[in-house]
Amino acid sequence: LFFKKTFSPLSSDEIVNREKNNMDQHRFDHCIGVSQTARKLANLNGYDEDKAALAGFIHDYAKQVSPADFQTAIKTQGFDLDLLNWGPAIWHGIVGTYFIKRDLKITDEEILTAVRRHTTADTQMTTLDKIVYMADYIEPGRTFAGVQEARDVTYANLDEGVGYQLAHTLEFLISKRSKIYPLTLDSYNVWSIKK
Ligand code: GDP
Ligand code: FE
Ligand code: FE
Ligand code: FE
Repeated sequence: LFFKKTFSPLSSDEIVNREKNNMDQHRFDHCIGVSQTARKLANLNGYDEDKAALAGFIHDYAKQVSPADFQTAIKTQGFDLDLLNWGPAIWHGIVGTYFIKRDLKITDEEILTAVRRHTTADTQMTTLDKIVYMADYIEPGRTFAGVQEARDVTYANLDEGVGYQLAHTLEFLISKRSKIYPLTLDSYNVWSIKK
């Protein structure tokens, strides 16, 4: 694993080491899968492959940060305090950007925005946002029912992949009677509705 353009003063090796030390092996393997899938989607969609690979690699950097550390970051780093009403599923992307800036020294706003949007999506998304959001969903380690259809849709058309994921994630969350983050619902209304 090597990043030519790291978008950070840290070396590629240092970024990989810090990432590995911040999560278990299962999550690390997922991040490698997302990185490789992001590279492939970048190639298919005319985006910088190295930048997509790095964004994919770090997207879950904060996935295993403790709830207490997230809560402290929300309260002291200028985040919307409404975030305190949510949990790690929502925090690790949005608040994760704070830990990525602090520990991985990545300041590129396009990369940080893609991390911020990777769980909920957003009503407007850049190509990189869509690449990371979809690579997270279809990387080779994902095994949920329907993942092959999700891959086929996404490789044929990135935007349709976004609509597919949002619709299926909402169905899944509603089936569990989970609380829907408003941005997830707003995104569904933009990306999943049949014209
Ligand atoms: P992961 O970090 O690779 O596991 O994947 P994601 O970051 O995409 O999603 C993390 C979790 O957040 C998944 O279990 C999603 O189903 C869940 N999630 C996504 N949107 C929402 C939402 O609006 N509300 C809630 N409660 N969970 C959500
Ligand atoms: Fe995630
Ligand atoms: Fe995701
Ligand atoms: Fe992920």
